[in-house]
Amino acid sequence: MTEPLMTVAEPEADRSVLQAVARGALGRCPACGEGRVLEGYLKATSGCSACGESYDHLRADDMPPWMTILIVGHIVVPLLLMVEQIWHPDMWLQMAVWPVVTLALLLLFLPRCKGAALGLLWATRAGQQEEPAESEPAS
Ligand SMILES: [Zn+2]
Repeated sequence: MTEPLMTVAEPEADRSVLQAVARGALGRCPACGEGRVLEGYLKATSGCSACGESYDHLRADDMPPWMTILIVGHIVVPLLLMVEQIWHPDMWLQMAVWPVVTLALLLLFLPRCKGAALGLLWATRAGQQEEPAESEPAS
């Protein structure tokens, strides 16, 4: 018996996108919600400690940084404008505080956004429908 060139995907259970994104954002495994989705600060786990699901093959690319910038920008800019409108602090104080606040929020949100992105990629099975590479003749 010869092996088929392509295995036909078995019908798989639906994956809840919202649940997977929420679990990932909380640092939990999108599949089971028990283990961790990241090893260390940003590295996707190669195997969930609870269910064994692997996430290190998923390529989140620029999505987590973009999400982080979007979220932190929408927190810092209104806060900065509100503080300026209400208290009019000195410029040196603003120049000292806001970069630190921004950096702290970026570091806080980046792994959460990475987890959410991995949850989204996992739930939508992105990157799992790769076509077999066809060899193209040299032109
Ligand atoms: Zn798991």
